[in-house]
Amino acid sequence: MYDQMTEQRKYSILKEIWGFTAFRSSQSEIIDRVLLGKDCLVIMPTGGGKSLCFQLPALLFDGLTVVISPLIALMNDQVTALKLSGVKVAAFHSNMTRNEQQDVERQLLQGEIKLLYVSPERANSAGFPDFLDKLKINLFAIDEAHCVSIWGNDFRPDYVLLNVLRDRFSHVPFIALTATADAATQQDICKQLHLTEPEIFVSSFERKNIFTESRPSEQKYKQVVEFLFKVPNQSGIIYCLSRKETEKLSLKLRQAGFNCDFYHAGMEPEERKRVQKDFQDDKIQFICATIAFGMGIDKSNIRWIIHYAMPKNLEGYYQEIGRAGRDGTPAKALLFYSWGDYIMLKKFIDDSQAKEDFKTVQYAKLERMWEFASANECRTNVVLSYFGEFRNEPCQHCDNCIHPPKSKEATTTAQKALSAVVRCKENVGLNLLIDVLRGSYRAEVREAGLDQIKTFGVGKDISFINWKIYITQLINQGFLRIDYTDGFKLKTTPLTHSVLFDGKKVQLVDLTYTDLVTEAPKPKQKKMMLEDELISKLKEWRSEQARQKQVPAYVIFADKVFENIAASKPLTRADLLMVEGIGKVKMEQYGADIIAIVQGFISNQELVKNVQGKTYLDTFQLYRQGLSPAEIAQKRELSETTIYSHFAYLYTKDEPIDLMQFITEDDITKVRTAWLLADKEMSLSAIAEHLISPMEFYKIRLSLAVIIKREKMER
Ligand code: ADP
Ligand code: ZN
Repeated sequence: MYDQMTEQRKYSILKEIWGFTAFRSSQSEIIDRVLLGKDCLVIMPTGGGKSLCFQLPALLFDGLTVVISPLIALMNDQVTALKLSGVKVAAFHSNMTRNEQQDVERQLLQGEIKLLYVSPERANSAGFPDFLDKLKINLFAIDEAHCVSIWGNDFRPDYVLLNVLRDRFSHVPFIALTATADAATQQDICKQLHLTEPEIFVSSFERKNIFTESRPSEQKYKQVVEFLFKVPNQSGIIYCLSRKETEKLSLKLRQAGFNCDFYHAGMEPEERKRVQKDFQDDKIQFICATIAFGMGIDKSNIRWIIHYAMPKNLEGYYQEIGRAGRDGTPAKALLFYSWGDYIMLKKFIDDSQAKEDFKTVQYAKLERMWEFASANECRTNVVLSYFGEFRNEPCQHCDNCIHPPKSKEATTTAQKALSAVVRCKENVGLNLLIDVLRGSYRAEVREAGLDQIKTFGVGKDISFINWKIYITQLINQGFLRIDYTDGFKLKTTPLTHSVLFDGKKVQLVDLTYTDLVTEAPKPKQKKMMLEDELISKLKEWRSEQARQKQVPAYVIFADKVFENIAASKPLTRADLLMVEGIGKVKMEQYGADIIAIVQGFISNQELVKNVQGKTYLDTFQLYRQGLSPAEIAQKRELSETTIYSHFAYLYTKDEPIDLMQFITEDDITKVRTAWLLADKEMSLSAIAEHLISPMEFYKIRLSLAVIIKREKMER
């Protein structure tokens, strides 16, 4: 099955259907494994490009590929996107009418379908395997495979039954795919699905295009508004801890003039659907949501995620930020954290009915989440180590790598705080301690007699926020601890003594996040602004297409593709086809529209004289108005030879230009002979030297264009 031909077809289908020219990390190896008919398990982060791993082989096989996918919304989006790229694909799930199902069955029996998406319920239904027996099946793909394992974070009993299918079709390869599975879950997936000697492909979990940042929650509403001003029209999600918070925040931001809405599991299903759809169609810029929002969202142009409060573990956090930047272009993830969040999350665990050993795990996970949020080192490395990837080079896409926090010797500051804890008899929480340090006379301080102690007011010169940040670091460094069993009061540790009495030096970090907040957006260069303008023209066109076809905008073209177009400004079909992300079917469907938009845009840009190809475009437009080469030359104040060379160029770029009105077949034959004698030399004078009788240069040039094109077509 596997040979050089297949290798070539892999690439030609990749370009034809998806418009891509290269595979990402392990995609190619995974596809090879599948083509060899062997089982595998693929662990790849969200947005990594899992779907290609089974969709592309499906197109290389002569039979059918069956894809099991747990969410109808996700399934529908993939099906729509594939259809738009010209792939014969169908879905089977319970939301279809009997008629629709029969129609799909008929098409399957006639061998018209390459990919069939099926919900797990449907796959397990009686009669389904019998039906499959009538078809030629080449591959089963199990998407979201972690659902099969109770170790994963979304167990679905329906998934376990899929091993029945596996046993029945033991000769057909299975590929299981997921974005979340630690080592134990990976083994369990293989076991539960009865995979045969599966190869496990684990991709790095690093999301290089996501800029990760974490900030203390002080004045977070204000910080969020400032952030939002910098990302106008960019899709995003603000994750909140409670339903009520989503509603409150959304209302407040709407009143501030932002185009947003809220989403949580307590809403009516109809309303939830509407919000989700409006978001996917770019009608709502961003959603304030609980973590219920996200599963089933397959929107590739989400540009930012804000966590308005700290999530309960890093799995959740990483999955949530993973929803941004799926199209591979830069995205931002901003996390706000505070001791208040920590305490609340801790209480959730305390008050839950779960078994003690489960709680222990949850506490440990929360601890790691906190370490991540308050880390002063590369955040990406903290997350990666959590998922079992260890390394220590800086990632260069997190706040701590870009603006390394500067630590300074702050032993006196530390001593003040530690001494205050001791003098308050280890009987105060964080906020009260700071009030004491700053000499506040509020009632709670006075009633406890804390205004009488020696350290009262010794830390006036440090702001409340800074004290909070410093004390947090003292806790992280082990000089203080929080006693969860005693009202979250601050207590000393075995290390406290060393700072107070043994001269141990303490380093503290001043947070630099304020610099990031106030950092002015860089003035964009003119070129960038023009590109942005072209992108928004393309987006307008896309919205209209999406509306007509009733599909989400991003399945027509990803934002990334528009960026590529704006950067290269293709003026001809051939140039457009070179753009990454433009496949053959999309080219046929939309190529003319897009070229027209780009051409219209460029012609209107008096400023951009030097856009590559604009001169050809100007010539081409006059040609289409019926002007002769001499007339065009006169009008454009260029030589006629130049106009002919434009014609030759446009012709090689597949523009409809009829060269045969200027040359004859006889000319072509003569030039071809001379060209071969000149060892296929492309220089016109070299060819002229080998001609039997002299010929005008422009004719040589035009003939050469025809010859080259014919050669290409023969190959
Ligand atoms: P996953 O299912 O792993 O979350 P997808 O399969 O949806 O990820 O792919 C994420 C994005 O990456 C999509 O926009 C897809 O078109 C793009 N993509 C996948 N493979 C490639 C590739 N080889 N080159 C460029 N873009 C790719
Ligand atoms: Zn980093």
